[in-house]
Amino acid sequence: MTGELSLYVSRRPSVICLKCGLTIVQGKMILAEDEKKRGWCAACADVKSLELLPPGDAAMTRRSKKYSSRTVVVQQWNNKRKRYERLGQFVEPEAILKARAECESDSADREAKNAKAAVKRTIEDREYRQRFAVEIRQLFPSMPAGRETAIAEHACEKYSGRVGRTASAKEFDEDMITRAVIAHVRHTETNYDNEFGKGKRKREIREEIRPEINLMIRRWKRERL
Ligand SMILES: [Zn+2]
Repeated sequence: MTGELSLYVSRRPSVICLKCGLTIVQGKMILAEDEKKRGWCAACADVKSLELLPPGDAAMTRRSKKYSSRTVVVQQWNNKRKRYERLGQFVEPEAILKARAECESDSADREAKNAKAAVKRTIEDREYRQRFAVEIRQLFPSMPAGRETAIAEHACEKYSGRVGRTASAKEFDEDMITRAVIAHVRHTETNYDNEFGKGKRKREIREEIRPEINLMIRRWKRERL
């Protein structure tokens, strides 16, 4: 048997090995031959000559598989998540040694690459917030100095992940900017936050402060004379 195979930790009380006829009890491994998880016992699957590599190190997983003529992935059912999860993979011991040597030799490279990517992301994030702030200022030229930065910072934190950083065309539409500015006005220019806990509902409070917000928005939108 070559290629990648899967060993499952058997969930059934007992299964008969299709090859040797022995009983595979629950919790023991079974090499699945079909969807019903019937198949061979671990002895017949002949993994004794192989070594189990635990999961978690992507480079080791990939490389040891590359160097092994056989890979047998061990899977266990996670009842909470309702899916099979990898418990590791059986590969030839020499493949693990080779993979480890390779990983050790270029671990500094890989770390440097990761660090570089992190720096790049930080710069991209900063540029994104700066572009956002510029757009805010253009739409609301009369807002007090520095507000565009505060609004951009806050909105980017709030929507981090949702506001696609990679989105380029029409990145910041007027609607999105206006919503961010309204939220800012609500919290900094009105009594909104202090009105809670007085038995009023959120919708009611928002209704009350709406004229105030609209006035401020109009003022901030006005071109500076
Ligand atoms: Zn067997």
